[in-house]
Amino acid sequence: MKPPRHPSRRLFIFVETKSWQCSVNGFVTMKIVDNIEEMRNLAESIRRDGKKIAFVPTMGYLHEGHLSLMRYGREIADVLVASIYVNPAQFAPGEDFDQYPRDFERDRELSEEVGVDIIFTTTDEQMYPEGYQTYVEVKEVTKNLCGRSRPIFFRGVATVVTKLFNIVKPHVAIFGEKDYQQLVTIKRMVNDLNFGIEIIGRPIVREPDGLAMSSRNAYLSKDERKSALSLSRSLKIAQEMVKRGEKSSSRIIDRVRKEILSEPYTEIDYVQIVHPDTITDVEEVTGGALLALAVKVGKTRLIDNCMLVSVRS
Ligand code: AMP
Repeated sequence: MKPPRHPSRRLFIFVETKSWQCSVNGFVTMKIVDNIEEMRNLAESIRRDGKKIAFVPTMGYLHEGHLSLMRYGREIADVLVASIYVNPAQFAPGEDFDQYPRDFERDRELSEEVGVDIIFTTTDEQMYPEGYQTYVEVKEVTKNLCGRSRPIFFRGVATVVTKLFNIVKPHVAIFGEKDYQQLVTIKRMVNDLNFGIEIIGRPIVREPDGLAMSSRNAYLSKDERKSALSLSRSLKIAQEMVKRGEKSSSRIIDRVRKEILSEPYTEIDYVQIVHPDTITDVEEVTGGALLALAVKVGKTRLIDNCMLVSVRS
């Protein structure tokens, strides 16, 4: 029998809690672990119990995009672990590491609501202590798109995800397709380095008006947010073009650029059409291709993407 969760099911049933569970007045509550050794030991005991661990790594300031990954993890595993850690190794000097929005109390509440069992949170001192010198580099798939304008980004992501995998020891980890190149990078790394962890990608969650959810949307002013709608709008236009038979990447890209630049405050970093596995540019949309874009709206860099599926040969 599953012990009741606090506070959604108000039943007083006193049950023995497992090593990964916390009990308050007979309720099972989410556990917060802020120590690497404790998390590793906990993960080992969960595995010894024969339970399946799903893991959702995040940088916090949770929104429905993150929560959709957590809900999925809740469905497919016995124990759901989410991490909240703003990883300095993936920010270059001058990027928004210091300003990155943080609200642990709100994240804690939202995580508990969707049924996270354990939040793992940590510090830079624990993750990158003095003398730290090991980094994971995934080569080809990180060269294009975001890898061009953020040269240390994927090295930082691959490194922190490797560390988190070693700490949380999941059977399955869930990532959003919003960061499509990141998902491909993690899949490549897990395969190349024999992690033995299943990597699952989940669809982009959008606001009702189409804007892809992102913690960074909090930076946008009202007017910038309006301009930012041109990103998802332009993806839709591209999909329509392909539906009508357009195959030329350059013509699609031109139209997308025009749509984005028709709005104030927008500065394009890239608009590219790439092979969804190799992340190399394709000149024609045949079969499935990924349209990916990164745009600065005011000072905020936003990314978005969609698949283009050519129906006619
Ligand atoms: P972040 O906190 O931005 O590092 O994101 C943590 C995870 O949530 C990553 O796997 C992201 O791809 C995923 N994610 C972020 N935004 C969305 C979204 N709008 N829809 C789906 N997944 C998302």
